[in-house]
Amino acid sequence: MPALPSSMRAAVFDRSAGGLRVIERPLPVPGDGDVLLRVRACGVCRTDLHIVDGELPPHADPVVPGHQIVGDVVAGATADRPVGTRVGVSWIASTDGTCPFCRRRDENLCDAIRFTGYDVDGGYAEYAVARAAFTYPLPDALDDTHAAPLLCAGIIGFRALRVAGVERGERVGLFGFGASAHLMVAVLRSWDCEVYVSTRGESHRAFARSLGVDWVGDATDRPPVALDRAVTFAPAGDVVIAALGALRKGGIVAINAIHLDRIPQFDYDTLLWGERQLRSVANMTRSDARDFLTLAARIGLKPHATAFSLERVGDALAAVRGDAVDGAAVVVPGLRP
Ligand SMILES: [Zn+2]
Ligand SMILES: [Zn+2]
Repeated sequence: MPALPSSMRAAVFDRSAGGLRVIERPLPVPGDGDVLLRVRACGVCRTDLHIVDGELPPHADPVVPGHQIVGDVVAGATADRPVGTRVGVSWIASTDGTCPFCRRRDENLCDAIRFTGYDVDGGYAEYAVARAAFTYPLPDALDDTHAAPLLCAGIIGFRALRVAGVERGERVGLFGFGASAHLMVAVLRSWDCEVYVSTRGESHRAFARSLGVDWVGDATDRPPVALDRAVTFAPAGDVVIAALGALRKGGIVAINAIHLDRIPQFDYDTLLWGERQLRSVANMTRSDARDFLTLAARIGLKPHATAFSLERVGDALAAVRGDAVDGAAVVVPGLRP
């Protein structure tokens, strides 16, 4: 293993300096219980946009965003994460393990939860530090670029299917069709579910059709059948209402968005009565991560991904913001600009 450098390139978001800039900064030093990772790839998530666009309140400032990290352990190794282990890091950076939510195994709701690339520096950099206990060894079947988008888009999409209560063979609506939703098609197929996609943008609709889903419509189009479950991925309240309108009695809509523009007024009698449920999806647990990565390896899940160099991280974010990539955008520090 070559000696570690003393500094690295990193994309730092600094509000006072007016945004995201790639700069040279000292190599981070792992503390007790941390591992230092050499970053192989880091997926772009819509949450990163909410952070750099100021739609979420600032936490750490400045901060290195990016919370779908694939990297090799290069220092601070533990017995089960020796040097050279390729691991993934996701949105959940740490929890206290002691609050009432952690004690009831709802660590996604921990009172003291910290997030990667928001409370602590993330993976838009050549190196990153992570809590060893919040890293996930990755199946060999997945290369770096295709593993990265699984780590938030995949895990949280999977959690959303759980929150929506999806059961084998059900009719499931996906409202919005980006990095997270497109991964859920293969998962739902493996459960023999029918998949109905409502999404804006002809390219996204064509992408959904190319994956062989059962029906495709515009963002707020109602599928031709009543849905058992629906997950909304767009940060738009109108889409939530459209999803509610597509449900059978007793059905569930899971809102997979950390930020919504607004919830429009809606008619309780027709949209929520009949024991329809509206639920939000918050963060993820480590068991969601482990279960999903195991399933992804078993079904050979391979996200569509477009790689960008670290110097082009701004272009990667812009591509996601403008819906200009099908599937996921991934920052690969080893790629030359
Ligand atoms: Zn994310
Ligand atoms: Zn807790």
